[in-house]
Amino acid sequence: MKEKIYTIPVNDAFSSECECPICTMYKTLEDNSVEYTMGPSYMEDDVRAQTDKLGFCEKHIKQVYHMDNRLGMAWVMKTHFDKTIEDVRKLQGKSSHSGSFFKKSSDGSPLIDYLHKLNNSCFICDRIENVFARYIDTIFMLWEEGGEFREKYKRCQGFCNAHYEVLMREAPKKLRNRELEEFTAVTDKLYLENMERVRDDIAWFINKFDYKYKDEPWKNAKDSVIRSVTKTNSILDVSEK
Ligand SMILES: [Zn+2]
Ligand SMILES: [Zn+2]
Repeated sequence: MKEKIYTIPVNDAFSSECECPICTMYKTLEDNSVEYTMGPSYMEDDVRAQTDKLGFCEKHIKQVYHMDNRLGMAWVMKTHFDKTIEDVRKLQGKSSHSGSFFKKSSDGSPLIDYLHKLNNSCFICDRIENVFARYIDTIFMLWEEGGEFREKYKRCQGFCNAHYEVLMREAPKKLRNRELEEFTAVTDKLYLENMERVRDDIAWFINKFDYKYKDEPWKNAKDSVIRSVTKTNSILDVSEK
């Protein structure tokens, strides 16, 4: 069944112990895409055409670098440079008025438009985006089916700020009436209760540095600072490269 491509990773993420199951889904997609980029695919013409054109964002170029395939990365960078140099050479000196009576863009030359696109595109972000959108759709589809997934959803440990926003924005497009009402109520509650739980863990972490509490147990506070970063910045492990 084609649907399983999406339902399995969504179910797996909601079964894992983490501060945001959607961060877990995203991280799996991201890891796979970084591995793909530095796997045998970088020698394929159609893949290289994409990396040449899109380049990488700051976050993903670091992850690509840490795959420790220096020769592979050198090839990818070499032809990305070739394309950038060639494109920029053609666009330098062209004003937005030249050759056309109508301005193409209100606030930039073709060179500035090109650079803006280049500086805001990433091969890995692009690869993740489509599948990630399908994962989000799958959450709503599984919710509507009810049953086991809905119970699993209700038991998760809440969401990060970014993915709570995604759920709130997408829910009205995918769910109707009672389904939407229940989903919204459950998600709102999950978000706040779990934000409070992590806040209280951090508060207890702070207390543990006060001599009055030094003999008290740590409870769930030891890794609370790391977990708080998942909630605020959608990062599952701050120590990771
Ligand atoms: Zn998240
Ligand atoms: Zn990226």
